[in-house]
Amino acid sequence: MVRDADRTRRRRRPKMTRRSPVKWLLKKRENPFGTIPWKEMYLMLPEEGVRATFPNTESCEARLASVRWPQGVQCLSCEMQDVSYIENRALYQCRACRRQFSVTAGTEAHRSRLDLRMWFIAAEEIITAYAEETGHHRLVGQSMAHRYGISYSATHRLKTTLTNSLSQPGGGLIGECVCFCALPVLRKPDLSPEEWDRMLSAAMYENRGARRTPHRRPILIPLEEPDQSLSQTDDLAKVGHALDH
Ligand SMILES: [Zn+2]
Repeated sequence: MVRDADRTRRRRRPKMTRRSPVKWLLKKRENPFGTIPWKEMYLMLPEEGVRATFPNTESCEARLASVRWPQGVQCLSCEMQDVSYIENRALYQCRACRRQFSVTAGTEAHRSRLDLRMWFIAAEEIITAYAEETGHHRLVGQSMAHRYGISYSATHRLKTTLTNSLSQPGGGLIGECVCFCALPVLRKPDLSPEEWDRMLSAAMYENRGARRTPHRRPILIPLEEPDQSLSQTDDLAKVGHALDH
């Protein structure tokens, strides 16, 4: 009796009609030249993958700092370059105005509880999905959340913030951090966009054998069951390590 009632309730539940941001963005990018920037970014990703290039948070922070301040760290308030680094708090401090700031302050990853390395890895995954046009099944929120070991809402935020930032000309700050290789193909000035798109696809296809794309990597599952007694920050720190395996 109870079971029947449950079933009816389940059947009556309205169908989810929420628009997925990925499908929406793919639709927006259906114009013939929409995939070109993604393919260019894909070909500029490090050959050995983001995970191997940036093995820990410190390497990601160093990379972000060098992209943000190519002339040396600059204070966010007074723009002075007389800045010291407080190692145990991972903060910069301006010697002139005493302002303390982190490397992510004022960026997309500002105040994010996720590890900066996770942002880099997710950027690689998003670029690959859009370049290969497989975003509709690669960037599904639930499966991403499972792979990263974070909540669905955190995944959704990460994905939308990163997609918007990577869509900016030049790939945004995180795009610049992970896409640093020279393009393996040269664009002649008289080349039409369609031909350039074909050339990029051919280069991607050739490279694919050499590069292990994220979807060929084993699916990443956190090794331990999350401990309920731990705070969320501790969980995320643990997940950062789980991503290595
Ligand atoms: Zn200052």
